[in-house]
Order: sequence, then structure tokens, then C-alpha cells
Amino acid sequence: MLWACVMSADFFNETALVLFSGGQDSATCLAWALSRFGCVETLGFHYGQRHAIELDCRAALRDGMTSVDPGWEGRLGESHTLDIPTLGAVSETALTRDVAIEMDKDGLPNTFVPGRNLIFLTFAATLAYRRGIRHIVGGMCETDYSGYPDCRDETIKALQAALNLGMDRDFALHTPLMWLDKAETWKLAEDLGGAALVDLIRDQSHTCYLGERGARHDWGYGCGECPACRLRARGWQQYRAARAAQS
Ligand code: ZN
Repeated sequence: MLWACVMSADFFNETALVLFSGGQDSATCLAWALSRFGCVETLGFHYGQRHAIELDCRAALRDGMTSVDPGWEGRLGESHTLDIPTLGAVSETALTRDVAIEMDKDGLPNTFVPGRNLIFLTFAATLAYRRGIRHIVGGMCETDYSGYPDCRDETIKALQAALNLGMDRDFALHTPLMWLDKAETWKLAEDLGGAALVDLIRDQSHTCYLGERGARHDWGYGCGECPACRLRARGWQQYRAARAAQS
């Protein structure tokens, strides 16, 4: 399959740029990249989010990754942050405005920021171009998601083609979570870095749409009620149940 990166020793001579928000999915993608590429840089965005807690989690996650696997410390490269407040200025969403989270008339939650992943990946490609990086990794997933059309595999494939045409490069957009549900994403973390990585992601990553970090649940921190918390909690419970059934 083109999009799920095939393990290759060649990648240990190459650099990857990971879209890294500090959430569960991007933290798992960072570990995935660290297990495959010789050098891994990260890229986060400020775009007027109501809550910047995910971004605050990035430093703790990056630091923690270096303890999960002794080989990963030497592979963790630069941390980049880009400010794109224009995205927040043109988006009327529950992520960038202080309004309740609800479904809109199109059947999408009003947390949807139109075009967000297209913009993120295009900026990532611009940065990767300048830095001579070919591989870009993102946590987009259409298996167990909120229906955002820019998370679909077809969208990512089309964007990869457009970026390569528009920049005359041979970028590879990797989306290792595309066909995994949230329980399988926790299992992937276990496979990549054992209990140490699962614990790191559970404690230091943040997914809650409301930005709550007070209450510690067995699946991590969050309000427990918003769609992102419910998805994360359900995935954790399914992952733990599957694990218990095996032992
Ligand atoms: Zn929440």
C-alpha cells in the first residue's frame, strides 16, 4: 500500500517531518516515525485554537520519547512551530470560537475547521522543501473519526499529487493511522514502545476539545464528555478489553 509506510532499512538514512499537535494520534505518529527514520523533526501550528494545551503537551511528549527507546533520542530532530492565525480568523468553529460543540446542518461537528489538514500539509511541504525532507507524517484517520473530509485517504492522496506537481518534488505523505480505529492506535503505541510509550501518551498527550486537564481518567486527562474525549475513552476501553481477553 502506498500510504502505509513499508518498513525499510533505507529510511534510516532519511528524515521525516511529523505533524505534531501533542494529541494522542500525533504522539503515536511521532513514535512510528522514530522507529523508522534516521532523523525525525516535528511541526506544530498555532492558528487561534481556543485551547493551546495540546501544544503545551508537545515538549513533555518529545522529552518522554527519548526515554522510551534509547535509540530514539539520537533521532529526534528539530521542533518547528508555525503561526497561522489567518486560519483561525476565517474559521467559525467551536475550536476557534467560544461556542458549544454541536452538529451542524451538514452532519459535521462544528469543531470542523474547513481545509485545516490541507493547509497544515501544504505548510509542512513548504518547510520540508526548504529543509530537503521527503517524508511527511500525519495522524489523519478515516476509520474512527468525526467525518472530517480532509482526513480521508482519498484527500491525502490527491493532496500528495498536487504538492508534488506544484513543488516539483517527490513527497511521500505517510498516514500510519488511516485504517486503524482508536483501540488499534493504542495497540500500535504498545507495539512501538511497550507500556512506557502507552503510559507516556496516556499521561502527556491531550485530545479534549474543551481544553480540560484537571481530571485524570484511566485513558488520560480531559472533560470526558466532548466528542474527542468520548472517542479516546472508548478506544482505550476497547484496547484494554482486547488485552485482558488475550491474557
Ligand atoms: Zn473533552
